[in-house]
Amino acid sequence: MKFDILTIFPAMFASPFGESIIKRAVEAGVVETRIHDLRAWATDKHRVTDDYPYGGGPGMVMKVEPLARAITSLREGNPGAPVILLTPQGTVFNQSMAQRLAGQTGLILVCGRYEGVDERVRRHYCDMEISLGDFVLTGGEIPAMAVVDAVLRLIPGALGGEDSTREESHSAGLLEYPQYTRPAEFEGEAAPEILLSGHRAKIEAWRRRESIIRTSEKRPDLIEKAGLEGEEMELAMEIIRKAREKNEG
Ligand code: SAM
Repeated sequence: MKFDILTIFPAMFASPFGESIIKRAVEAGVVETRIHDLRAWATDKHRVTDDYPYGGGPGMVMKVEPLARAITSLREGNPGAPVILLTPQGTVFNQSMAQRLAGQTGLILVCGRYEGVDERVRRHYCDMEISLGDFVLTGGEIPAMAVVDAVLRLIPGALGGEDSTREESHSAGLLEYPQYTRPAEFEGEAAPEILLSGHRAKIEAWRRRESIIRTSEKRPDLIEKAGLEGEEMELAMEIIRKAREKNEG
């Protein structure tokens, strides 16, 4: 999978992409990350990529011509890859979106700065708009890193253990069960005995139940879409009802 990232701050990517899983996935040839300085597509002497907004107001706007040239050129080198504009006005990113994007052969990520990009870039050169959440950052670089990280770890071979993303929070609509490691006891609190029992089926059942309890307590909004049935649904409803009663009382 090829990630092309368009930015005016290419150096920002050196550290996050030069460590750990992303670095290993690149070295293993599972993914390719290519960071492009938008200024390379600016034609004037000072390589200007922004200008004052028409109509006045604070800040600068990223110019359409360098972005249009850059995106056209990146599309040629990454055919079929959707062009994604990072913007607080986009669809809020989530795990199912990451799963869908992981099925692409490539992604072209466009990082805005200042007051954002000229509207004509959004209208004619981008296929999708993604937001990291309902807050405003100074640039699209951190959202682009988050998208690459979340998508890349779903690509087969990117992580050591192929199965490690299977049971994670949000992958099946629930939050993950609590995790413990050594020591078995810390400051008087023991890790659940069942996890040390070696009994696979019982451990699985305990994890599933804890996952439902945890999701019902922390994110009751997820329960509706989690497709629970029978006893599992009753358990979730009971926890949500008790939490509501506690809040109201
Ligand atoms: N004036 C814009 C608005 O109100 O919608 C916000 C511009 S923001 C200061 C500059 C750039 O940061 C945006 O063009 C976008 O690329 C990026 N950005 C900021 N917040 C973001 C978010 N929540 N998700 C994705 N990108 C974001």
